[in-house]
Amino acid sequence: MTLKDGQGRMHDYLRISITDRCNLRCVYCMGDDGIEQTSHDAILSYEEIMKVVSAGAELGISKIRITGGEPLVRKDLIELIRMIAAVPGIKDLAMTTNGTLLPRYAEALKNAGLNRVNISLDTLNADKYRQITRCGKFEEAMKGIETALHYNLRPVKLNTVLMKGVNDDEVIDFLQLVREKPLHIRFIEYMQIGDHDQGYSSHYLPLSFIEKTAKKAGLPLTPVPLPGGAGPAESYSIPGGKGTIGLIHPISKHFCDTCNRLRLTAEGSLKACLYWQDEKPVQPVLDDKKALQGLIREVLGGKPVEHQMAADGSCRTINPGAMRGMSKTGG
Ligand code: SAM
Ligand code: SF4
Repeated sequence: MTLKDGQGRMHDYLRISITDRCNLRCVYCMGDDGIEQTSHDAILSYEEIMKVVSAGAELGISKIRITGGEPLVRKDLIELIRMIAAVPGIKDLAMTTNGTLLPRYAEALKNAGLNRVNISLDTLNADKYRQITRCGKFEEAMKGIETALHYNLRPVKLNTVLMKGVNDDEVIDFLQLVREKPLHIRFIEYMQIGDHDQGYSSHYLPLSFIEKTAKKAGLPLTPVPLPGGAGPAESYSIPGGKGTIGLIHPISKHFCDTCNRLRLTAEGSLKACLYWQDEKPVQPVLDDKKALQGLIREVLGGKPVEHQMAADGSCRTINPGAMRGMSKTGG
């Protein structure tokens, strides 16, 4: 079965935010005090999440990504991974994490059926890591990356938000890391999202900066197929590299025409676009599979042609959906 949106784009990918809580406080994601946390009762239970996964899988969803907030802070996550991995039709089960808790959970996650991880890492400098995450320990994130490689949660991808004046001086260091280790770094453009002051306007830098910097350093980027299948990143190799470089530019060169994703927020709303306000709660139809599948189709039917950020950049005034931070919707 195939699932298409109103524009005829095929949808086979569901991203599920299982919590808005986190053990870090990244500057681009939340304010100093974190976010106002949703109460446990208002978050979908694993049983409820499974109803959405099963209904979606019957319609053609074959890839699932668990995200948040930090998914590894939610209790009994291994159980959820085990249940999702057992759903017929689910071929790819991935997780986005800050990686700091992976040394504790990677082995159990792999055994439960998790295929791979994306780990967020914006710097290779321990002091800067603490500043960006406000409280994180660089050594823990690095250990998380090593553990993910060790337990074969591959391809291991790193998510790196490029920030002018913060980590733009480290591009070559990241390229060197890709030469030495089988890691796939995906540079992401800084998005203006959430209602806290993130210094977006002073730190945004288009990803053409990466291409120029690599070329200048004698490490030109050569296009290659994406490791681990399709997605919004353009993928490149560098001379002598064990891993690859991905560029995800939601702003300067958006990828809406190939978007294949649907989102389920921690509070239980289906969202067809990260940067659009429309969403529909699943709770009223959770006990009626046909109605739930109808809701999935309805939400996709209303998916915009492109996100507001791509359309005119004025989302903050006219698109309240963008005012909710990434940790709430699920990055
Ligand atoms: N806690 C996990 C982590 O950090 O990987 C998963 C959730 S986090 C919200 C998912 C991704 O969103 C991270 O890679 C993070 O870098 C990215 N992100 C958060 N806020 C962002 C922003 N304002 N612009 C670009 N990416 C952002
Ligand atoms: Fe937490 Fe991830 Fe947001 Fe950083 S980006 S504060 S790790 S949810």
